[in-house]
Amino acid sequence: ERLSNHFQFIDVGRNDPDKKPLEARKTEYVEIYESYSSEQVAEQSHRCLECGNPYCEWKCPVHNFIPNWLKLVAEGNLFEAAELSHQTNTLPEVCGRVCPQDRLCEGACTLNDGFGAVTIGSSEKYITDTALAMGWRPDLSHVVATGKKVAIIGAGPAGLGCADVLTRAGVKAVVYDRYPEIGGLLTFGIPEFKLEKSVMVRRREVFEGMGIEFRLNTDVGTDVTMDELMAEYDAVFLGMGTYTYMRGGFPGENLPGVYEALPYLVGNVNNNLGFEQDADAFVNLKGKRVVVLGGGDTAMDCVRTAVRQQAEHVICAYRRDEENMPGSRREVKNAREEGVEFLFNRQPIEVVEYFGQACGVKMVETQLGEPDEGGRRRPEPIPGSEQVLEADAVIIAFGFQPSPPEWLADIGVELNDWRGIVAPEEQEFAFQTTNPKVFAGGDMVRGSDLVVTAIWEGRQAAEGILDYLEV
Ligand code: FAD
Ligand code: SF4
Repeated sequence: ERLSNHFQFIDVGRNDPDKKPLEARKTEYVEIYESYSSEQVAEQSHRCLECGNPYCEWKCPVHNFIPNWLKLVAEGNLFEAAELSHQTNTLPEVCGRVCPQDRLCEGACTLNDGFGAVTIGSSEKYITDTALAMGWRPDLSHVVATGKKVAIIGAGPAGLGCADVLTRAGVKAVVYDRYPEIGGLLTFGIPEFKLEKSVMVRRREVFEGMGIEFRLNTDVGTDVTMDELMAEYDAVFLGMGTYTYMRGGFPGENLPGVYEALPYLVGNVNNNLGFEQDADAFVNLKGKRVVVLGGGDTAMDCVRTAVRQQAEHVICAYRRDEENMPGSRREVKNAREEGVEFLFNRQPIEVVEYFGQACGVKMVETQLGEPDEGGRRRPEPIPGSEQVLEADAVIIAFGFQPSPPEWLADIGVELNDWRGIVAPEEQEFAFQTTNPKVFAGGDMVRGSDLVVTAIWEGRQAAEGILDYLEV
């Protein structure tokens, strides 16, 4: 019996959860993956070899105890698996859905050598989804209140990670966000086909049950001032994300028919959820020929949203090759299945107009030249290769730059030369800013990155705050 268990990975191949039928995927705003059954998750998690030195744990940014909770769920100890999973991760069911596992935990799995990595992400999602549905809740009965309280600005993954760790250490966490629901980009950014919104609503209820207080619809800087927070709380954590859209700097970018990626996605989510918004915030691309410029997660979410809006044709144009795309490979594959066409090595040089309306994008072909500072090969235009791609709508998804509020200067919080907050991890108090009482983490410190890295920074900043408060 033990021997056959040990070779489970030979007898049982990697099996991802089933996907919904393509017809449904092209029209509905629901997650495309079905959930595992208890038999499937046991079979799949049992494939783990329990390596002596689990590379998956090192590659996972929050260093989850992956082989341990895989073993627990394989043996049917679901609640213990959920408890252990929450010791390192604040939002395991979210990471299981949206982490680019092929580049992180699963990319480091020993079974990649010919057998197919263990389905770590889907198992992580199963554990928390199922445990919560069965009534499991984090056990905080041993927590002793310290009497300290911390204000957290931003209910995105960084702020939530910070609030989680503080609460478990007996520090009162009060989270402020300008939006009507928690989650940051998880709610107002990432579309439902990757992460259904009910996941964050349930999470808010779990957090509230733990004692975290949310002050939503509250903009810090207008509804409440930073001075008031500094006076009222023992420390403040900033997890406000990055919201300045990068521009291409080419002619025609401001023409009608050209849209910024994030407002386009948020307008669609708000429309689906029935949240109030300005009439022109929702852009419907039904019947349109759409070109999305960019190759990251945001671009993938735009092309797949346009498909669901019944666009006539959707093209994603990216200036490097497929190998060098920053987005998750899984999502590129999903987009292709849903009918998106990809054009690689194409750089936009102008949005062309017809009677004042965008009608296409002039593109030049590129070839990859010398590596840039980040080690990625720079795309170089090939002279004479210009071509116009016809389009009724052009979506620009070139990424984000920091958007730190003016009031940071008033409290002596310094920025670096690309306007990220200076708050290093390696110092006496992790993620402390140049104002000793203020800590920061997530996209506003590291630049736009991943959900799981924002969670890690929020959690580590909480450790820094606990050290600073000497609790
Ligand atoms: P955010 O999630 O941006 O949260 C910041 C919060 O602060 C917001 O809720 C905002 O309202 C609030 N806030 C800001 N200023 C104030 C203020 N003055 N007062 C009150 N509240 C304020 N990552 C992945 O790992 N996988 C993916 O598949 C993925 N897809 C993505 C798709 C899109 C479209 C985008 C844009 C990003 C995606 N990312 C993905 C990246 C990921 O969402 C971010 O890296 C992550 O959300 C950053 O977390 P954060 O907590 O730092 O900031
Ligand atoms: Fe993998 Fe992300 Fe889960 Fe870590 S948090 S185990 S990287 S899916």
